[in-house]
Amino acid sequence: MNTQLIQSTKAFFEKTFGNTPQKIVLSPGRINIIGEHIDYNDGYVLPAAIDKVICFAFEKTNSTTSTIVAIDLGESVTIDVTADSKLSDTIWTNYFRGILQQLQNKGLVIGNFNCVFSSSIPVGSGLSSSAALECGFLFGLNELFHLDIKPVDIALMGQSAEHWVGINCGIMDQFSSVMGKTNQVIKIDCRTLEYEYHKADFSDYSLVLFDSNVKHSLFSSAYNQRREECEQGLAILSSHFPEVKSFREATEVQLLSIKDTMTEDVFKRSHYVIKEIKRVTLACEALDRGDIETLGQLLFETHEGLSKEYEVSCAELDMIVDTLKKEPAVVGSRVMGGGFGGCTINLIKKGQEEAIKTKLAQLYQETFGIELKIYEVTISNGTSLYHPS
Ligand code: ADP
Ligand code: MG
Repeated sequence: MNTQLIQSTKAFFEKTFGNTPQKIVLSPGRINIIGEHIDYNDGYVLPAAIDKVICFAFEKTNSTTSTIVAIDLGESVTIDVTADSKLSDTIWTNYFRGILQQLQNKGLVIGNFNCVFSSSIPVGSGLSSSAALECGFLFGLNELFHLDIKPVDIALMGQSAEHWVGINCGIMDQFSSVMGKTNQVIKIDCRTLEYEYHKADFSDYSLVLFDSNVKHSLFSSAYNQRREECEQGLAILSSHFPEVKSFREATEVQLLSIKDTMTEDVFKRSHYVIKEIKRVTLACEALDRGDIETLGQLLFETHEGLSKEYEVSCAELDMIVDTLKKEPAVVGSRVMGGGFGGCTINLIKKGQEEAIKTKLAQLYQETFGIELKIYEVTISNGTSLYHPS
């Protein structure tokens, strides 16, 4: 599927630098089946790497600086890898600077290099192109300069690079981009970073992403607010039930019994989190026994919670999910990612995909005057070297 992307990236490298690249790296975006807004609430998540990737081509050089070319943007940057990294106004370069800073922080020394990259991951749709950028770049440097960084540490350093850029993200995106496996989802315990793979067999159903193609600017202010509300909710719970150290130990019954001690918003956020943590475990069990109808029902419940209790949805996303709920061929649908726009993840009966896509795209265009974007994805390998066969 990415053959053309790999060929064009390689050809661009050869034309620009006159050499065949020494390493080609593919770094995937990710989906999350369930477990939304609970990576920072001590919950579990259930992500997987997908077959949309950023392709990087690298070579070592004897130059005194290093060059990185963003093929899709037609831009390049020249960097002194021995200097301390500073944030730049050219946003995309910061992910690279962030990684170089992590290497310096760890005392890992690299030489100079040329790097070009191009992507099939839509940017800002909730498929984590930024994690693919950080982890693919570091993976390539690790190979090129034999740094001996373990995969889990590539993910952690990728996360630190994103924090350095200024986004206080959890570990899910980088972890799934690096550790993904074909046809497997990863259940990650966000508290301990323990993880286990579960077979991702959706039997008679296809995984389809409908991208609302909108991004409302509410996202970052709401994100910080939700984090605060959850902290308040947990503090109140713990003061009544000392055994509750995190939302994971709390029950719905406990929360309901102290409902009048908190604001309505704090109650709603906490209620969502407690139920979503349980849903991830139920979803894993449903997947393991091949019960895709139950899995789908859980996705609908998550959307309901994100829309009505956590309040991070929007009219466009609610319209997509509400429309699909009425379709017998759709067993599950929900917003995926932070919310206020971006993608929905959907399970559609095989053979019915085209009919559903056409109907929804038309209705979406009529309602909002916006084109619905559609991505078919398969669950694929994490960041890896490409070996031409
Ligand atoms: P996402 O949900 O896709 O991770 P982010 O806002 O976190 O969205 O990251 C997107 C940023 O990553 C872009 O603004 C850009 O700086 C960088 N990026 C992603 N893909 C590319 C690309 N193909 N070329 C250049 N920069 C990219
Ligand atoms: Mg991102």
